[in-house]
Amino acid sequence: MKTKFILASGNRHKAEEIAAILGEGFGVSLMDSSVEIIEDGETFEENAVKKAMTIAKATGRAAIADDSGLCVDFLSGAPGVHTARYAGEHATSEQNIDKLLDALEGVPEDKRGAKFVCVIAAVFPDEDFKCRTFRGECEGRITASRAGESGFGYDPIFYVEKYGCTMAQLDADTKNKISHRAAALTKLAEFLNTRR
Ligand code: IMP
Repeated sequence: MKTKFILASGNRHKAEEIAAILGEGFGVSLMDSSVEIIEDGETFEENAVKKAMTIAKATGRAAIADDSGLCVDFLSGAPGVHTARYAGEHATSEQNIDKLLDALEGVPEDKRGAKFVCVIAAVFPDEDFKCRTFRGECEGRITASRAGESGFGYDPIFYVEKYGCTMAQLDADTKNKISHRAAALTKLAEFLNTRR
């Protein structure tokens, strides 16, 4: 039987990416965008679980949710769960990047290590709302200035050693293979395939 998940997000692009990695046998639909869930957890896990659980309980359907962000070594893991609003509640990516570059001003290359983290939570109402989480990480370092036009968010200042360029200089297919989201989704797919 095809498991049809509801995604705790209104982002169609995310739903398509998730459906593509999960493959045939699973469906992903978007939640009603009028449901507002406040992401006030202290960890990516807490936020992802809160979102997936809220939607599973509201709809009675299997739900998945993700939470992601950037953790910088020199800043003891910040901005972490505050990544999207690092430079303020309605900050743009440009403002967030400027704030991070300022915070790392003068910090040498070998101390600019960072990772993107993505946690996906899946909640199954037919198993007494049992919840599982899957974590994916992508390691890199923060450059001293922007490079590249692709991607979004912090991609222009996130350098990936293996490819010798920033995330924003990678084509979408390559990014989608090495990303923190892909790593978490692959773990989710493995779990779902052993569960059937
Ligand atoms: P969200 O939880 O997917 O909304 O991600 C939170 C924030 O993390 C986003 O607003 C971005 O600033 C940042 N972020 C997450 N994933 C990526 C990525 O793949 N590239 C660049 N920035 C990202």
